[in-house]
Amino acid sequence: MQKFLLLLLLLPSLSAAEPLRVFASVLPIQTFVAKVGGEHVDARAMVRPGFNPHTYDPTPQQIATLSGAVLYVRTGVPFEAAWMERIRSANPAMQVMDAREGIELREMEAHDHEEHGHGEHGHEAHADGHGHKDELHHESDNDYHAHAGEGALEQDPHVWTNPVLVTHMVGRIRDELSKLAPDHATDFTRNHDTFVAELNALDTELHTLLDPLPNRKFMVFHPAWGYFADSYGLTQVSIEHEGKEPGAHGLAALIDQAKQEKIKVVFVQPQFDKRQARQVAQAIGGGVVSVDPLAADYVDNLRRVGHQFAQALKP
Ligand code: ZN
Repeated sequence: MQKFLLLLLLLPSLSAAEPLRVFASVLPIQTFVAKVGGEHVDARAMVRPGFNPHTYDPTPQQIATLSGAVLYVRTGVPFEAAWMERIRSANPAMQVMDAREGIELREMEAHDHEEHGHGEHGHEAHADGHGHKDELHHESDNDYHAHAGEGALEQDPHVWTNPVLVTHMVGRIRDELSKLAPDHATDFTRNHDTFVAELNALDTELHTLLDPLPNRKFMVFHPAWGYFADSYGLTQVSIEHEGKEPGAHGLAALIDQAKQEKIKVVFVQPQFDKRQARQVAQAIGGGVVSVDPLAADYVDNLRRVGHQFAQALKP
């Protein structure tokens, strides 16, 4: 009798579907998965809040929780180059989706090193970027975030900073989730449509805000805003160059450029050191403003960022 009661108590929880566990490399993409997946998905980010995706090391606990995941969404941030293979082997049954697929990737700005030409390597890097699924495995994992020392052009992984590209990305997330849980496909489609409407409204708002500004150049420490800049006709000037801080000579040149362009603000992000940004800001009599490309509250955050850029670009 007792056994029978226990069984009755257990049955509902056994039949209730567990939400699909989905990992994303960074917080904004976790948000996109959560927006589309709604109650059917348990979305997580590998790079935890406040950590830097360029240098992140997943914890052993995180690697262990991958075993319950059905999908991993990567985006080419540098820690993936070292970790994708271990992430895949932690759960070979897990689907891996590349959030960059179908998006034309931009190169990181201003490559002026002379020891390597912009020849074959660059093209190879491009081919990887648009890679076919089955080719994304070993080679591209290692080659993707190109090693500057080997002469490959480094491709910019920060695709999510442009809301128009995000509409494309969430369409692919909807498709992927619908394949994994066809019963919920209508919910995924509805959630997707709601979120895309929100993204389109945000895009219109940002155009209204940024299009009329006479100054079009902004300065950042880490170049995370290239896709955002492209979308609104702005130009990002970066202090960091190919992931490295400039030396005294490079810094002096940047200060000259900032003065010439009448740049008054240096944008930083919470995950990076602010020392050099402060140095430049001081030299140009300007300020340092923090904007976060990795915030989880994507739409509100991008709206805030838009206002901060508009403030900095006012004459
Ligand atoms: Zn970055």
